[in-house]
Amino acid sequence: MSLQDEMKNYACDHSVPVMLDDGQAFLLSKLKEYNCHSFLELGTAIGKTSILVASEFEDMRVVTVERNPDMIEQAKINISKSGVQDKITLIEGDALEIENPEGKFDCIFIDAAKAQYTRFFDKYSPILSNNGIIITDNMEFHGLVKHPENTHNRNTRQLVMKIQKYHDYLETLDDFETEFYSIGDGIAVTRRK
Ligand code: SAH
Ligand code: MG
Repeated sequence: MSLQDEMKNYACDHSVPVMLDDGQAFLLSKLKEYNCHSFLELGTAIGKTSILVASEFEDMRVVTVERNPDMIEQAKINISKSGVQDKITLIEGDALEIENPEGKFDCIFIDAAKAQYTRFFDKYSPILSNNGIIITDNMEFHGLVKHPENTHNRNTRQLVMKIQKYHDYLETLDDFETEFYSIGDGIAVTRRK
């Protein structure tokens, strides 16, 4: 079994919300379209997407941030047997608390705590390369952002409202423009105007 399939099974068995095939294919196509050579991921989980990105592109620097010790442990195991470990730097810590990594990134992938998307954007957009893209996952959150009435769970409602707020925030920015795609769990692609 390939490492990607192994990780997919693990994620499924342990309810780890990894990006699935359609979302990942879209992500790869954007990395190609924008000729990205550096990728910063907020929310490593078990390393599935960072390993894929490092494997698919010859010349790609991958930095990925994770705060959950159990995830970090799994990610380390997976990265160590990926064959692309030299291209991946795993930063252990809270993406909102760590010092920003050195250098600029051609793609910043926001895929960590959904209630904090706006804060991630504000903290990391200054280290986006001039022609880079910020990709945000889970913008539709199981269709609930369009139809919040479909959940009666208070926490889920609040989360959904925060994603909606982030969506609106992206649209109000003067120096960035965003396209929203109904792929996977909903993906936003933001670039400088
Ligand atoms: N990008 C992964 C999936 C990430 S799931 C993939 O595509 O395979 C979301 C992850 O973000 C979880 O592992 C969670 O622990 C992590 N996370 C949430 N908030 C975080 C934060 N503030 N800093 C670092 N990691 C965070
Ligand atoms: Mg996600």
